Amino acid sequence: MSNDFLSLANKGVQKLHPYQAGKPTDELERELGLTDIVKLASNENPLGLSESVKAALQKELTELTRYPDANGYYLKQALADKYSVALNQITLGNGSNDLLELIARAFVDNSHEVMFAEHAFVVYPLVTQAIGATAVVVKAKDYGHDLEAMAAAITDNTKLIFIANPNNPTGTFLEQDEIKGFLNKVPSDVLVVLDEAYFEYASAERRGNAIAWIAEFPNLIVSRTFSKAYGLAGLRVGYCISHPDVADILNRVRQPFNCNALALKAAETILQDEQYLVDSVRLNDAGMKDLSAFFDANKLQYIPSMGNFITVNVGQSGDEVYQKLLLEGVIVRPITGYGLPQHLRISIGTEAENQRFKQALTRVLNLQ
Ligand SMILES: *Cc1c(COP(=O)(O)O)cnc(C)c1O
Repeated sequence: MSNDFLSLANKGVQKLHPYQAGKPTDELERELGLTDIVKLASNENPLGLSESVKAALQKELTELTRYPDANGYYLKQALADKYSVALNQITLGNGSNDLLELIARAFVDNSHEVMFAEHAFVVYPLVTQAIGATAVVVKAKDYGHDLEAMAAAITDNTKLIFIANPNNPTGTFLEQDEIKGFLNKVPSDVLVVLDEAYFEYASAERRGNAIAWIAEFPNLIVSRTFSKAYGLAGLRVGYCISHPDVADILNRVRQPFNCNALALKAAETILQDEQYLVDSVRLNDAGMKDLSAFFDANKLQYIPSMGNFITVNVGQSGDEVYQKLLLEGVIVRPITGYGLPQHLRISIGTEAENQRFKQALTRVLNLQ
């Protein structure tokens, strides 16, 4: 007896494909019998978990029979202090992906349009399709957002616009005046999510403080994460800051315990660990310089990046080069699914990891 469960799923879900994550290191170990694998595929922090977080988590273990604080009071308090916002403007998520989905689910239905750019983060089309809403994908300009074209594409049905800054997987960056100019053109009943997952890596002079704009643009939601520069990807914790009324609505849709106790404690702890952030950014800057110089020397074109990754044109099938790099024990990210079939996205690693990548790519592409 066979049931056609696919036809039972709602129409948006029928067309979904599962998210393709970066290949886990132990999977490649199992497949190829390799050890000493370097993974530069998921924009994770190569520094490793901060010692301050390790100590805090150890202490928290004895509390794990209890439910976590459903409101994440202490973490919200720390974020409110850091960003000079009220507690009721903050929504916590099981990673910021959780929040992107929550925002779409709370505000969008299948009669609406959701807008984002070509080569933008894959979670935007995923959440749009799951709801059965219409995705409006606006052609990229120089691999990044074309905000003029996006403003022109707004219709009466537009409900939500996602902008990643810096963008993943291209690393492109929008200046503050460009974003403000765009917000001025967006009707006040259209929500704009500014996804700043890589905020901490972007130039401190140029990244500004979009959170402060929420007073002027109450339809703006700024989302950030502890997964990247704070090194907590495995714990799943992110946050968004919005008008309190928006946060109130998100809070109604949110699962009551969407952030677990260890994640809350770790995030609270790492916010106080300023040295970790300084070290993360410094390591990233050095690795970015190193890989850029390597690509320059080998005449490989790359997209200048403000994130913790760099996207390079390998001049041939990215999928094939990816497979060959796997045989060398180096996992990177092919991005054919993002409309960039000849590019690979390389997360910046430690000096030794970057070195392994450079050696592997040199062999695979027969560079000098
Ligand atoms: C990594 C990333 C996120 C954050 O993911 P988490 O769910 O917080 O781990 C969000 N947006 C973009 C563009 C990203 O690259």
